[in-house]
Amino acid sequence: MNIPHRLNKIEVGDIFRQYGDAYRKNHKLPLQSLKAMSAIEICRTSALGGHVDECDSCGHSRNSYNSCRNRHCPKCQSLAKERWLEARKKELLPVSYLHGVLTIPFELNPIALINQKEIYDVLFKSGTETLRELGFDPKHLGGEIGIIAILHTWGQNLMDHPHLHCIVPCGGLSEDGKKWLLPRKTTRKKKVFVHVNVVSDLFKKKFLYYFKGLYLTGKIKFVGKIANLGNRQEFEKFCGNLLKKKWITYIKKPFGGPEQVIEYLGRYTHRVAISNERIIKTRKRQSYISLQGLSRRQ
Ligand SMILES: [Zn+2]
Ligand SMILES: [Zn+2]
Repeated sequence: MNIPHRLNKIEVGDIFRQYGDAYRKNHKLPLQSLKAMSAIEICRTSALGGHVDECDSCGHSRNSYNSCRNRHCPKCQSLAKERWLEARKKELLPVSYLHGVLTIPFELNPIALINQKEIYDVLFKSGTETLRELGFDPKHLGGEIGIIAILHTWGQNLMDHPHLHCIVPCGGLSEDGKKWLLPRKTTRKKKVFVHVNVVSDLFKKKFLYYFKGLYLTGKIKFVGKIANLGNRQEFEKFCGNLLKKKWITYIKKPFGGPEQVIEYLGRYTHRVAISNERIIKTRKRQSYISLQGLSRRQ
């Protein structure tokens, strides 16, 4: 297999090519991991064949090997990320923006882990409905806002903490679609069209309403440590406690503008387990990978 020449930078593909066989012999891996490994091993090598890139203006041409397009491949994902960032940035309007983060309380984490699709659907629905409804409310804005919403299911530390990032304009379109409406009053320092507590309260109520709906229609499973919630009384008590809590919500004008928030979110949406940039060096069957400024041997 031919591999294009690179200037001494080690990549995940190099490590897999070198140690992949030995690792697979000694470890039992799920099918999805095996597929990702073999895709990364042959990505942009002669094994996948090649194509010719030609410049439209000067006609200069270059031969390149084809890419694997696997969603876990660090090379393919960085290209997909650039495309995604470009498309999202094109959607931004030349107005000021807000960055909102709506988080569900940790008590819901074990339920979200077992019922991911259902809980994440409810999180999207209640989060976006909350912001749109408050936008439509003439007390706050009286117009249509539009939202880019992105789900985060776990952080760098691999702990589950589902939350929704929302990028919303601090203004909205009038009902007839002809006027750009600015907030009636901005909460003094933060310049947002609605106070964070109002968002938090409505989001909580909406989430619990849809969550109960899932329960009543038998769409969520309670197993293991949370099996007791299958009991109606226990479930009502659980929801009652969640209603009493203050849910952590954040809504602010982003420090560096909406582009920076999109850049930050893009890193997450197109993330791979280990990006090529994080590999420091390899030595005697060990790879050094940087983790948030620290380094760790793997
Ligand atoms: Zn690839
Ligand atoms: Zn996040």
